[in-house]
Amino acid sequence: PARVGVLALQGDFREHLAVLASLGADARPVRRASELDELDGLVIPGGESTVMDKLSRAFGIAGPLKAAIASGLPVYGTCAGLIMLADRVSNRIAGQQTLGGVDITVQRNAFGSQNESFEVDLDIPELGAVPVHAVFIRAPVIDQYGPAVTPLAALPDGRVVAASQGNLLVTSFHPEIMGDTRFHAYFLAGLHRS
Ligand code: GLN
Repeated sequence: PARVGVLALQGDFREHLAVLASLGADARPVRRASELDELDGLVIPGGESTVMDKLSRAFGIAGPLKAAIASGLPVYGTCAGLIMLADRVSNRIAGQQTLGGVDITVQRNAFGSQNESFEVDLDIPELGAVPVHAVFIRAPVIDQYGPAVTPLAALPDGRVVAASQGNLLVTSFHPEIMGDTRFHAYFLAGLHRS
C-alpha cells in the first residue's frame, strides 16, 4: 500500500488518517523531518495555518518539507493545508510563512464572520458526475493562479476552491469530514505506489 503521511502538528489530522486508512493506504502521522523519508505522499490537514506555520518551523520540519516538495513529493492540502501550500497569502498575518509550491494567491477567511461556515454542492468533472458536497469552515479562496495551475472546482460566483499543480493538490474545503472519499482516492491514485 501507499505510505501516506499526515502532518500531525495541529488540526484535523486524525480525520485524514482515518479516511486514508479506509482506502487501504498505510497512513501515518508525521511530526519530525525524519518521518518524511520513505513517504509516497503527504496530507496537510485543516486547522489554523498561522499555528501550523509556527509549529512546523519550531519542530524543524518546515525546511525539509519544502525541500521534499521541491523534489516532487505529492502533497494534498485541505483548508489550512491549502494555505500552507500557497506561494502567496494576500492577508497573511505579520511573519506568517508558507511552505509554498502552488503558484496561487490565497485569501484567508475569505467568507467573513457572518458566513464563516457553509456547505455547497460542487461539480468536479475529474471526480465523476455526482457533485461533491463541500464543507467550508473559515475557508480560504484562491484569488489568483499562475499558468501551471489547473483549477478543479469553483463556487457559483466563480471563485476557485480546488486546484492542482504537478504533484500538489489543494482544496479550500474539508473532504475528510464529508464522508466522501473521492478526493483522497484521487490523490492516492496519483501516487507512485498505490
Ligand atoms: N482559517 C484557517 C486558516 O487561516 C483555516 C481554517 C480551516 O482549516 N478550516 O488557517
